[in-house]
Amino acid sequence: MTTLGHLINGTRVDGNGRTQDIFNPSTGEVAGQVSLASQATVEQAIAAAEAAYPAWRDTPPAKRARVMYRFKALLEQHADEICRLIGQEHGKIVHDAQGELARGIENVEYACGAPELLKGEHSRNTGPGIDSWSEFQPLGVVAGITPFNFPAMVPLWMYPMAIACGNTFVLKPSERDPTSALFIAELALEAGLPAGVLNVVNGDKEAVDTLLDDERVKAVSFVGSTPIAETIYSRASANGKRCQALGGAKNHAIVMPDADMDNVVSSLTGAAFGSSGERCMALSVAVAVGDAADALIAKMQEQMKTLKVGPFFEASNDFGPVITKAHQEKVCGYIDSAEREGAEIVVDGRGVQVPGHEQGFYVGGTLIDRVTPDMTCYLEEIFGPVLLVVRADSMQEAMGLIDDHEYGNGTCIYTRDGEAARYFSDHIQVGMVGVNVPLPVPVSYHSFGGWKRSLFGDLSAYGPDAVRFYTKRKTITQRWPSAGVREGAQFSFPS
Ligand code: NAD
Repeated sequence: MTTLGHLINGTRVDGNGRTQDIFNPSTGEVAGQVSLASQATVEQAIAAAEAAYPAWRDTPPAKRARVMYRFKALLEQHADEICRLIGQEHGKIVHDAQGELARGIENVEYACGAPELLKGEHSRNTGPGIDSWSEFQPLGVVAGITPFNFPAMVPLWMYPMAIACGNTFVLKPSERDPTSALFIAELALEAGLPAGVLNVVNGDKEAVDTLLDDERVKAVSFVGSTPIAETIYSRASANGKRCQALGGAKNHAIVMPDADMDNVVSSLTGAAFGSSGERCMALSVAVAVGDAADALIAKMQEQMKTLKVGPFFEASNDFGPVITKAHQEKVCGYIDSAEREGAEIVVDGRGVQVPGHEQGFYVGGTLIDRVTPDMTCYLEEIFGPVLLVVRADSMQEAMGLIDDHEYGNGTCIYTRDGEAARYFSDHIQVGMVGVNVPLPVPVSYHSFGGWKRSLFGDLSAYGPDAVRFYTKRKTITQRWPSAGVREGAQFSFPS
C-alpha cells in the first residue's frame, strides 16, 4: 500500500512520521495512506517557498502567465486521470468530477490574464510635474488550506492566481482525499514553475498550525467548515497575517407559488443531491411559500424514485457515497434527530444498500417535510443528500428565515415574478444569489464568497478579489525638478 508524501522544492518527499488512512468511500476499503507532516517538514516547505520568492517576484507577469497557459493544457490533457483520482478518494461520479475540474481550469484561465490584471493605476500631473501610480506587489510566501469536497477545484481557486501575481505558495490539501491535489501540483511544475514556487504538504492540525504561526507566511486562504474557518481567521490575524477563511453553509431556496413546479423539482433534485449534498453551495432547505408546499412534496417524491446512488466508477449514477463512515453516521444522525423532533421523513435514505458495495459509505436521497427553524437539522449544516422543506406563509417570512440563519453562502428564488425576484436579490443577506438558478456559483472572473458566518475576512475567493488578496498596493509619487533650479523649503502640508 502506498503512502502519499509531500512536494517540496520541486521534489516528492516521503513522510517519516505519522500517517492516516485514505479510504475509497465507494467500497469502504482503505485505498492508501497519507503522511501527516511534522512541523519540521512544513518549515522545510516554507523555506523552499521563501528561497524561490525573490526570483519569481521579479519574473515578468507575462512569463508567469505563460506557465499558466501550459498548466491549463496539461490539466486538459490529464483530465481523465484527475477525475479518476477525485472519484477514488472523494466518491463523486465522473460527470461531477469533470464539472469540478472544468471550474478549476477556469481559474487557471483567469490567472493567464495576470499581465492585464496587474497593470495598476496611473495618474499624470497629480500636482505640477508630479505623477503618481499604484502598483500591486506580491506578498511573499502564501498558504492555502483546503477541504475534502472539491479536492481539485478549491486548490485551483487559490494558487494559480497567487502564483501568477508573483507569490510563492504552500498548499495543505485535505488529508481525506489528497492525491489529486498532489498530482495536479506536479503538472504545474511540469508546466514550468521553478522549484519551490509551489509546495504541497499533506497533514492535519499540526501542519496547519505551523503555517499559521510561521512569520514567513504572509497570507492564508482557507476553505472548510465554519468552526475551523473561525479559528484559522483568528489565529492568522492575531499573527499579523492577511486571511480569508470561507466556511460552511445552509443554502435556502424559496419556492414561490407561481414557480414552474416541474422545473423547480428537477432543479432542486440536482442541487440538493448532486455530489451527495457535499457542496458548500448545495441547496439543503426549500422554503415553500403558500400552497407551493403540497405540490412540491408530491412531485419531489415522484422524482426521487429515479435517483441512482452508487460507486463513482459507474457514470450512470447520479451521486456517490459520502466521504467517510463517520460522516455517513453523522448524516443519518441528523435524519434521526429530525424524526425525533417532529419533522416528517417523506423519503428516507438511511440504510440504503448498494448491491456489491455494501461497505461503501452511502446515504440515499432524503426528503424531510414540516421542518421548523428550531430543529437541529435546520440549524446545523448536514452536508449530505438531505433536503429539508420548511413551510412559510409569505415571501417576507421566507426571507426572514434566510436572514436569521447564521450562514449566508448561497440562495435561490424560484418564481416567474420579476418584481419579487428583484426585491429578493436586492435585500437578501446572502453573498451569492440565484434567480431560478439553483447553484449560483460565480464564474472565475467574478469572485466567490458568502456573507455572515460563511466567510471570515474582507475579500472573496478567486476572480478580481483574489488579485487584491494576493497583492498589496504600493503608491508611488514622483517628480523630477529641473536641474539647477533652487527650491525653497515648504512647511505647509502639500495640497
Ligand atoms: P474541515 O473544516 O474539516 O477541513 C478543512 C481543512 O482544515 C482541511 O485541510 C483540514 O485538514 C483542516 N483542519 C481540520 N481541522 C482542523 C483543525 N482543528 N485545525 C487546523 N486545521 C484543521 O472541512 P471539510 O470537512 O474538509 O470540508 C467541508 C466543509 O467545508 C463544509 O462545512 C463546507 O460547507 C465547507 N466548504 C466551504 C466552501 C466555501 O467556499 N464556503 C467550499 C467548500 C467547502
